[in-house]
Amino acid sequence: MTDITLSKPAGLIDTIKSKGLCTGCGLCEAIAPPGAIRTEYNASGYLRPQVLIPLTPAVEQRVAAACPAIKIEHLPAESASHHPLWGPLHGVRSGHALDPEVRRQGSSGGGISAILCHLLASGKVDFVAQIATGLSDPLANELQLSYTRADVLRAAGSRYAPSAPLRSLRELLAMGKRFAFVGKPCDVAALRQYARIEPAVDRQVPFMLSFMCAGVPSIKGTHAVIAKLGADESKLVSFRYRGDGWPGMTRVVQDDGQVFEMDYNSSWGTILNKHLQFRCKICPDGTGEFADVVCADAWYGKDGYPDFTERDGRSLILSRTAAGEALVREAMALQVIEAAELDVGEIAKMQPYQVDRKRMVLGRVLATRLAQGRAPRYRRLGLVKASLGAVPLLWLKSAWGTWRRAKGETQ
Ligand SMILES: Cc1cc2nc3c(=O)[nH]c(=O)nc-3n(C[C@H](O)[C@H](O)[C@H](O)COP(=O)(O)OP(=O)(O)OC[C@H]3O[C@@H](n4cnc5c(N)ncnc54)[C@H](O)[C@@H]3O)c2cc1C
Repeated sequence: MTDITLSKPAGLIDTIKSKGLCTGCGLCEAIAPPGAIRTEYNASGYLRPQVLIPLTPAVEQRVAAACPAIKIEHLPAESASHHPLWGPLHGVRSGHALDPEVRRQGSSGGGISAILCHLLASGKVDFVAQIATGLSDPLANELQLSYTRADVLRAAGSRYAPSAPLRSLRELLAMGKRFAFVGKPCDVAALRQYARIEPAVDRQVPFMLSFMCAGVPSIKGTHAVIAKLGADESKLVSFRYRGDGWPGMTRVVQDDGQVFEMDYNSSWGTILNKHLQFRCKICPDGTGEFADVVCADAWYGKDGYPDFTERDGRSLILSRTAAGEALVREAMALQVIEAAELDVGEIAKMQPYQVDRKRMVLGRVLATRLAQGRAPRYRRLGLVKASLGAVPLLWLKSAWGTWRRAKGETQ
């Protein structure tokens, strides 16, 4: 007698997850019927969609049209004038919030938060959808709807842990209001791609803001930072990764009043960046090419490397669309931010890591496809041109390293 085991074909989401290609943005939860998907932590400490009710082919098609694990593509009409390293650019500046508290609480110069405050105060949007610390869990990244400057300040600062800001998009759109969205570059790329098939996005989300991103660490990275500090997680009342200065300290406060601190170079540079998810290693867009406005650290250089000495915050501010450029100019004219024009060549000095990533990514994504037969499709992102700037031996080494890692990938 022959034993035949019939196995169910894996759905799109499970295939994406099994290859380590999911970014954890949460958009599929919002596209699928209510209750079909729940985004939650997996055993590796990354946010991943759990499919509770199998998706129909029609729903899978809508997910595939926007999901950054499937593709990241600029539209043909837009891409001809893009910079091969930095993507679409309507304005390149460095500056900071003129409200000193916003500047101080912000991750770099408070550029994003200042612009968000302006969007709310001017009535351009009804609210901002952004990630903030959980109300009951200081380690949770939760979506916050911000209506006031105080709300925006509460969310200021970078949170180097998984976030899924798009998981509630259906409910946000159902509110029928206009809102600004803040997310990682992959979140914004997903939303922009979704706008191509869902007209409500363009009607209701007039501004998308992002920041440069070196990758999302697992929540295990945060636990490792807390352990290294010697703090007791059961006594945690607050946790911040940085901000309150530039770059600002990683800071834990316990309910017994004890405070533990670690500098940015140690927390990000020696712990958190060791916990990045695989998809971030093959990310073609660490610089938020699909946003209207992007802010990043406008690091001062020292011996060819960014200098993390504490000082007053300074943001690199890129406007990437005509709407983003008009917004930045208005924020400058109204004394919301102070910013000076920069030559595009200056960006590489402030963000050398992003230069390397863009130059290497074509080799990495090809290696992923070779290793596991599947990889996201990247189009019109200038990756071939960017690769030409790489040192060939380093490019090959990085592709080889990715091939080896992709072979064992199961995130
Ligand atoms: C995972 C991660 C990696 C980063 N990598 C880089 C990098 O390589 N180079 C670089 O220059 N900058 C990086 N940053 C961004 C940088 O730290 C600052 O956010 C940026 O300089 C903007 O500063 P700001 O003062 O204008 O922002 P703020 O005014 O402090 O505003 C920050 C905004 O980011 C949102 N936010 C914070 N954490 C998250 C999150 N996990 N998910 C979604 N939204 C979030 C907040 O809601 C807030 O609206 C990274 C941030 C994160 C979260």
